Amino acid sequence: MYRINRKISLISFIILFYVITLAAYSNKYPLDSNYHRTKDIENSIKKWEIEYPNVFYSEILGYTGKDKMPIRSFKISFDPKVKSFDKPSILIIGQIHASEPLGVEICMRFADYLLQNYQNNERVKSLLRSFSFHFIPTINPEGFEVVSSGIYANHRKNKTDINSNNRFDRGIDGVDINRNFPLNWNNETQKLPHDPHYAGESPASEKETQAIIDFMKRERFYLAINYHSSYFGDLNERIFFPWNWSGAKSPHWYEMKAIASIISKNLKKDYSSANYLVHTGNTTKVGFLRDWSYAETGTFFFDIEVGGIYKNKSIIFPDNANMHIIVDKNIKALINSFEYLDINTSIVKIIDSKGKPYILSKVHYNTLKQDIVKPLLSNEKGLLFIFWPPDRKQLNLYINDRKYLIKKSKSKNIIIKLIN
Ligand SMILES: [Zn+2]
Repeated sequence: MYRINRKISLISFIILFYVITLAAYSNKYPLDSNYHRTKDIENSIKKWEIEYPNVFYSEILGYTGKDKMPIRSFKISFDPKVKSFDKPSILIIGQIHASEPLGVEICMRFADYLLQNYQNNERVKSLLRSFSFHFIPTINPEGFEVVSSGIYANHRKNKTDINSNNRFDRGIDGVDINRNFPLNWNNETQKLPHDPHYAGESPASEKETQAIIDFMKRERFYLAINYHSSYFGDLNERIFFPWNWSGAKSPHWYEMKAIASIISKNLKKDYSSANYLVHTGNTTKVGFLRDWSYAETGTFFFDIEVGGIYKNKSIIFPDNANMHIIVDKNIKALINSFEYLDINTSIVKIIDSKGKPYILSKVHYNTLKQDIVKPLLSNEKGLLFIFWPPDRKQLNLYINDRKYLIKKSKSKNIIIKLIN
């Protein structure tokens, strides 16, 4: 009897384990209860505004084209209401594709983590001393509303009425905002309006694209991360950065690869012991936000594809328990990666022969001639932020076409006095 009981309990344990495992590693749609909906994002921002007025500032970057929904952004910094010229700014974008809600969770919960901890946690305090953090939970609020409200899981685009029938056709209407940016906008490859990757009628045709362009140009971020998820499971758990066009790599490919490698080192895959993959192979030329941002404003820009593969299935809508595990892991990876970035960043101050800050001077580094990437600009205090890959000890800066050699030093601050 005892033996049978033991056998039964063992069998029921195995069944229970199997059921839990099955339930744990699958997609749950409509999204599980702890995911943010549009209202939750708005409520959190309102709450943070009241609770943390000294470090929190929010603004609306623009409105979506179809439903006129606000595109919200907020900043967490020790000087939130003014532009912080003394330190580099980092941007975290939760999503651009509506069907990819995990990034919204990472974005909102990372912000919450900073706010909860900046007073007592030395590491968070130190990060806020070194960087200003900006957030956009979603670039695509009207698409996000379709997915997060449970109407339809696989809607990637915004809601632009491309077939002009005055109603919303889910999965058909809309423009892929991440194909709509002006660099390499190519409607030939994505010209069919019903295609999930439809690039739009013209470059920056979408209100969302226009709002982000203005914002990126205004802030000139040091680094940006945009989260994605791979609906069909072809890109999961990879880190992308600008660019490798059939072997023609971006001028700062080596620097960005070093940063991507650190993110990868800190980020294990969801359902295997391997780390995230740094994508070093070819990348496509299709109007990406990341390529445009880097070329136009010098921002080191990373697309991180979150959500793993389990038994050949892409898990991008995990249940509450697994969503929290993924989010926590990503928050740790961000903290570690930003600490690394901080240690390896120099603040270069450019002054003229009389010792005055040299404002908005054009600076190239690594190479003088760059066809696509615009020069960096020293900011309104004459400062420029430079990242050092671990094995680099010196580099050439070209300021107004003149070469200056700078060396990595223990001090974070480097002064360059311009020669007349
Ligand atoms: Zn995406």
